[in-house]
Amino acid sequence: MTHRSAARVASSPVTRAVRAGLGVDTAHRAVMPPIHLSTNFVFDAPGVYAKYDYTRTANPTRDLAAETIAELEGGCGAVITSSGMSAIAVSTRLLSAGDLLLAPRDCYGGSHRLFSAEANRGGYRVEFIDPWESASLELARRLRPRMIWIETPSNPRLRITDIAAWVRVARDIGAICVADNTFLSPVNQRPLEFGADLVVHSTTKFLNGHGDVVGGAVVAADEDLLEEIAWWTNVMGVSGAPFDSYLTLRGMRTLHARSCMHEANALRIVDLLDRSDVVTRVYHPSLPDHPGHDIARRQQTGWGSLVSFELRGGRAAVDAFVDVLEYFALAESLGGVESLVAHPWTMTHASMDEPARRAAGIGEGLLRLSVGIEACEDLEADLKRALSAAERPPARAARVPAAQR
Ligand code: PLP
Repeated sequence: MTHRSAARVASSPVTRAVRAGLGVDTAHRAVMPPIHLSTNFVFDAPGVYAKYDYTRTANPTRDLAAETIAELEGGCGAVITSSGMSAIAVSTRLLSAGDLLLAPRDCYGGSHRLFSAEANRGGYRVEFIDPWESASLELARRLRPRMIWIETPSNPRLRITDIAAWVRVARDIGAICVADNTFLSPVNQRPLEFGADLVVHSTTKFLNGHGDVVGGAVVAADEDLLEEIAWWTNVMGVSGAPFDSYLTLRGMRTLHARSCMHEANALRIVDLLDRSDVVTRVYHPSLPDHPGHDIARRQQTGWGSLVSFELRGGRAAVDAFVDVLEYFALAESLGGVESLVAHPWTMTHASMDEPARRAAGIGEGLLRLSVGIEACEDLEADLKRALSAAERPPARAARVPAAQR
């Protein structure tokens, strides 16, 4: 039995991710799959087409990464794109002028910016709603969107959207249901199992998991959607680079192992923040008083390791808090082995205007942690120091506004 056939019969997604592509090398019998960086593949003759001809269109290394993501999400196939944003842009190519997109008010700031910009130039229409409110389901039936965008847990407030309830609405009105699963990864949530049509990823985050790739993926539930998404990816020229695909494939081999450590650390940190007087609110679906706790328990297989919280002292406390952190780097991304802290007001969501940020529940005192897999004692000590600093923040000097990202 070859490595490859062993991988194919493995029933656990953990085993399949670890062993993806092992033993495919027939030239040298390498255990790990080789990287195919070549731009071109030779034609046998004019008009004779093989599986591979030009890497923008198809590439063996990228295909292996795509197959692995599709297996993890339970889809019929996937495309790998150059970034999470290009995965989102490709997915919204399924909309025509006049079509309505329903999107969450507090989706990722870059998604919000893309949807708003496309709507402004007449690509499609967009309405931002509160999908975690059950009244929004009725509103959607009346508005009859062509596409329903789900991001759960949402960025950065970690609100939970009931995927199955929104899929029912989408089916009734003939809408395409897309779920951005970046925040949880297929280890913790598989939206296609609830009936979503497409799953979108910023593979930059948990799937690659090592903070050294910017990439994206779209996983499709059926062949027709996959074909359309693959066509647009090639036409727009946003397919992912083979080397990035290789790194992402390598990252996915440890996705399950990393996710266990991320979550164990996150739960301890939620507890630490929840007991602090300096913190007025902690947002994490594991907390029983989180409004989406029961839905999360139903549709998620893990709680995830993004944790958001509000500091009592607002912006001055935020500045004092991040200033003393040693392990949590002040940086945009999430889902890597390394712990990060983001200030959504000035960073991830700075491209939304102030009313849009306020409407999404993003204030100046809100911070978002991406809890990494370092020893938790070190992370806890770091946060305790920062909480002490935030207790009595020094008076704040006037600041130059952060550049719009
Ligand atoms: N979706 C979510 C939920 C995100 O948080 C991000 C980036 O932070 C993106 C999509 C965009 O991904 P990328 O930065 O890889 O383009």
